[in-house]
Amino acid sequence: MSDFPTGPYRNVVGGELLDARDGATQTIVEPATGASLAEVPRGGAADVEHAVSVAAAAFETWGQTTPQERQVALLKLAELVERHSEELARLESRDAGKPLPAAREEFPVCVEELQFFAGAARVLDGKAAGEYMRGYTSMLRREPIGVVGQITPWNYPFQMAIWKIAPALAAGNTIVLKPSELTPLSTLRLAELALEALPPGVLNVVTGDGDPVGAALVRDARVGMVSLTGSVATGKRIAAEAAATLKRVHLELGGKAPVVVFDDADLEAVAAAVTIGATFNAGQDCTAATRVIAAPGVYEELRERLAASMAAVRVGDPAGVEEIDMGPVISARQRERVLGFVARAADGGAEVLTGGSAVGDAGFFVAPTVLAGPRQDAEIVQQEVFGPVIAVQRADAEETALRWANDTPYGLAASVWTRDVGRALRAAKQLRFGCVWINDHLPFVSEMPHGGFKQSGYGKDLSAYALEEYTELKHVMAKLD
Ligand code: NAD
Repeated sequence: MSDFPTGPYRNVVGGELLDARDGATQTIVEPATGASLAEVPRGGAADVEHAVSVAAAAFETWGQTTPQERQVALLKLAELVERHSEELARLESRDAGKPLPAAREEFPVCVEELQFFAGAARVLDGKAAGEYMRGYTSMLRREPIGVVGQITPWNYPFQMAIWKIAPALAAGNTIVLKPSELTPLSTLRLAELALEALPPGVLNVVTGDGDPVGAALVRDARVGMVSLTGSVATGKRIAAEAAATLKRVHLELGGKAPVVVFDDADLEAVAAAVTIGATFNAGQDCTAATRVIAAPGVYEELRERLAASMAAVRVGDPAGVEEIDMGPVISARQRERVLGFVARAADGGAEVLTGGSAVGDAGFFVAPTVLAGPRQDAEIVQQEVFGPVIAVQRADAEETALRWANDTPYGLAASVWTRDVGRALRAAKQLRFGCVWINDHLPFVSEMPHGGFKQSGYGKDLSAYALEEYTELKHVMAKLD
């Protein structure tokens, strides 16, 4: 495709476009074809060392900016992203294997998120706290943390970068961001565009593997906070490593979202939402609809509806001419991983209603898959697959359905489907998840705090709560006489 920016791609540090210090490079592979897409620097610990020094120096001035100045900078960045949306969407589509219309939809949302945090920067001020002790007065100040290390995954490369940088910048921090080694292209382009909106050194991007680049960020004592969106395993490693310098840790990790369907639910709506919820981004979404727990009166019909609607999902090349609903998963490794989960579930007695195999010879495509009847302790129910796979279970009582919904290590998102308001709110109260949707699955908006319970992590993205995550609260107490 001629309008695809083939590079060169470089790290962005201190306002400069840099190769890795040792000159190492890495090939980025296109998921739809398995072919090489671009070359990027393969950063190392020395690149992180330099980037943190630069970010620490930039904090001296950026940390002193007024909220209004940061708002203006973020609005400028939003405008740049808006102006370059088409180019960025094409890049994201090729690099992450997203259907182009879906990739295009992400950019207006990212622009809006930048605008949200630009506004939020203006209401972050500390507040007068009053006179708690006779003869003294207190003030509360919210201050930036300093240099923040941010580490992003490959499923929504650009949007996850925006979720991280927007609140961190709004709060007055400087950043060293490491994108996923599988999908760094749009983030490198974002950092390049940001040079027009932000002073040099405020937003730095260093590519490379989790270890050494991410690990060096976590180890560096000058980094005051590390924020990760990624897998539970990486989150645990980072939390353990971060303990050595007692830096703050913000973790947005995996999920295994249940969809609890009661007897009075609108099954057509359930099937439509679950099909989108399970195949959007090829199911590589931490809030993907993955476990349908159906009441006995609707179980049979829902199985059939889901099998039909999942089989009707059009799978194909995101860069091709045909209209499609779903592209490939991110890599050959991920495809094998997903198919391995399905094969083990089938071996364990689950019935494959549709899908269960790879699609085509080139690229990393997986057929939308529905498995029925796995046991509650089966791996397919307990572990995140991160592919277009739904497991459908039958629960004979409300209490069983909610117990099963809560019975995994994760706690990110869930949905409950019923026309009975009391039952919906009762379920919402009992579900141990950071987000519970009622009669829908997946929608989100900037005001909504997004983050997990249990092993889905801690800390919130989006919303005013995200802004607080990137600040320290200081109490200042003055003696009046
Ligand atoms: P991953 O954990 O493999 O990698 C995430 C990032 O961590 C990458 O940039 C990687 O290079 C880096 N990393 C790996 N090892 C590291 C280490 N030792 N030190 C520092 N950094 C290290 O995850 P992934 O496969 O890229 O992404 C998929 C996962 O992300 C899924 O589990 C998904 O649920 C989760 N996710 C969560 C959310 C959320 O908001 N909760 C959103 C999107 C994705």
